[in-house]
Amino acid sequence: MNEKLVPWAPAQMTFSDYMSQPLPADAIRFEGPQSFYGLTMMDLEKFIAHHGKEKYRTQQLYKWVYEKKVTDFEQMSNLSKDFRAELKSLFTFELPKVLTHLKSVDGTQKFLFDMGDRQTVEAVLIPSDDRMTLCISSEVGCNMACRFCFTGKQKLKRRLKTEEIVGQFLQAQALLPEGWRITNIVFMGMGEPLDNPEAVFKSIEILCNDWGVNFSRRKITVSTSGIVPEMWRIAASKTRLAVSLNGYDDESRTRVMPINRRWDITELLNECRQYTRLTKDLVTFEYVLLKGISDQIEHARALHKLTRDVPCKINIIPFNEHPGADFQRPSDDTIEAFHAELMRLGVHVLLRRTMGRDIFAACGQLTSAYKEHPGQMDISNSNLGGKHVADSRRGELGLR
Ligand code: SAH
Ligand code: SF4
Repeated sequence: MNEKLVPWAPAQMTFSDYMSQPLPADAIRFEGPQSFYGLTMMDLEKFIAHHGKEKYRTQQLYKWVYEKKVTDFEQMSNLSKDFRAELKSLFTFELPKVLTHLKSVDGTQKFLFDMGDRQTVEAVLIPSDDRMTLCISSEVGCNMACRFCFTGKQKLKRRLKTEEIVGQFLQAQALLPEGWRITNIVFMGMGEPLDNPEAVFKSIEILCNDWGVNFSRRKITVSTSGIVPEMWRIAASKTRLAVSLNGYDDESRTRVMPINRRWDITELLNECRQYTRLTKDLVTFEYVLLKGISDQIEHARALHKLTRDVPCKINIIPFNEHPGADFQRPSDDTIEAFHAELMRLGVHVLLRRTMGRDIFAACGQLTSAYKEHPGQMDISNSNLGGKHVADSRRGELGLR
């Protein structure tokens, strides 16, 4: 473990200080009723201590709810009758309702969730040979205004609550056929996760708790457009970092990602280097290929030069069209030539296959305005996910 002072840490903490920090450290409410799915183990301990109960009860509760999937207190046989009655007034177990559930010909599935208050978000499930990746949303809309992104065209409506992020996972998992499970989570749906860090990192704590879902931290990737001062949280939560680079120098990045004016490439890459030093992990850079703008051979060379001293892999994502888009997708030949040039230069590069285009579920196509895409098939009652869907495709998100 690197014990040097972390320059980007408040109050000059060491990295292990960071790791032992309660994450995240925001205040909790002590009144009920509130969503059980919004409380980390630590929150729950404080919450039930406030209501006069012992610490070990939290583990029992987590086990009932997340492992045994029992939310009826009457069935929680190892709790006293009085405690069960009290719990009923303290917790709710509502999950976001699934409004539509679509399935692509390639096996990708898209969920539209109702978050109440007339807000909706999407999550996408992407099967591949050996994994089932869930791409989840952190916000309704997004304020980062990246010019190629459909979500970015919708201003931020609101940040999701912890339970709404956990809820996307629980609902998608519940809709999978018997014996199937989600193996990877990527925060690459709607919104900028580091613009909503409290809820995002709480949801990670909840999903990774070993008394609960026990999801592996190394199977969670948080993708950011580059909110540099918040990036340390990804290392501290022991999840994996993906960065939307989308430019080969400051000028080209600023043209499509306004955030580059706030934190430029030098600052961003310094932070990435810090991440790789501390975690010994690679950063994944995402690079959207825009026709005539970022898809030329000289751009591939500049991209290589820019990133060669950062331990990284690069995911090339050919632009996905959406209504009112200002950009076009390059031809297959151009995409292939760009990919080949990076390979020739020895870059660890992956060309993402586009998944779910027919149901408007590919990268950058997510929106909460679900009525804009008529003609989609509602398969909410269908029997999902035959084995065949996993056979022919690799995950679009390709985070191998
Ligand atoms: N806000 C986060 C995560 C969500 S966006 C972020 O920006 O990293 C997930 C990925 O989709 C990003 O890498 C982004 O560059 C990419 N993306 C956005 N719009 C796209 C489009 N129209 N075509 C292809 N990829 C797109
Ligand atoms: Fe927001 Fe990411 Fe889309 Fe940019 S690419 S507008 S940060 S969701």
